[in-house]
Amino acid sequence: MSAQILDGKAIAAELRESIRQEVDRQVAAGNSRPGLAVILVGEDPASQVYVRNKKIACEKAGFNDVSEVLPAETTQEEVLALIDKLNADPEVHGIIVQLPVPDHIDPEEIIERIDPCKDVDGFHPYNVGRMATRMPIMAPCTPHGVMTMLSKTGIGLRGLDAVVVGASNIVGVPQLLELLNERATVTICHSATKNLPEKVAQADLVVVGVGIPEMVKGEWIKPGAIVIDVGINRLEDGRLVGDVEFEVAKERASWITPVPGGVGPMTIATLLENTMKAAYKLDCKSKKA
Ligand code: NDP
Repeated sequence: MSAQILDGKAIAAELRESIRQEVDRQVAAGNSRPGLAVILVGEDPASQVYVRNKKIACEKAGFNDVSEVLPAETTQEEVLALIDKLNADPEVHGIIVQLPVPDHIDPEEIIERIDPCKDVDGFHPYNVGRMATRMPIMAPCTPHGVMTMLSKTGIGLRGLDAVVVGASNIVGVPQLLELLNERATVTICHSATKNLPEKVAQADLVVVGVGIPEMVKGEWIKPGAIVIDVGINRLEDGRLVGDVEFEVAKERASWITPVPGGVGPMTIATLLENTMKAAYKLDCKSKKA
């Protein structure tokens, strides 16, 4: 039997609508709109598309978009000074730096300069540490969006054997921590992992974020497993495919995410969710940030 499709587009639309309604309630109660600052340095075309999409999503959710586009020759000190200014601005609740940045910019120093309470990407070491010690505040958007999708299956994660393929700071590692915090038993795989097919084959849940088109073969999937494909790859013929061989995997899985229309839409929706939390719900200071 074919897998049920985890429709990220629909789940993200529902989440965005609930955020918009919450913003309306907060504004009616006299609170300000959430303000999100996306900092883009340079003119990377893919980044420009991402930033434009975030801008549109902000407007639709009723947020103030206070993004800053800086020329490629902007210095490290100038970016740090901008972050200091945004950190001090009470109307700015979320700050993210669109990656990649030009080579002369050190992204780690920039990320560490962001006030952890405004770090809505969840990349600041403080927030990574909170997640690693089971006290999360700001969770990275893509893996947290995956958790929201998983909650829609109605399947409990406790005790599941989960395999995460890919171990980057923005996808695999925070996904490991999110799943571990829900008491799944998690194996994480990367480019040095031996016997990847065997590891995937024992998983009740597979999350793949590698960046290699269809590298996880459908026949590796354990019958009945949940398959989450974070990968987005553009082929030469223009098609978008994930990191999982979807057509074969969907005949074995119980639930599967499509590409496009799976995890992708959840990332921006979760960014809005984090920014709303930062604006209204989160007393980060009392937690000694
Ligand atoms: P990175 O290149 O930063 O990380 C890739 C990871 O895959 C690394 O941990 C790497 O291992 C691992 N890897 C590489 N080759 C293999 C292999 N043969 N077997 C097992 N693991 C391997 O990529 P990202 O995490 O940034 O992105 C991964 C994918 O997810 C991309 O397709 C990207 O476009 C997509 N993405 C989608 C998002 C969304 O919103 N849907 C958001 C972010 C990313 P090692 O650590 O050893 O190098």
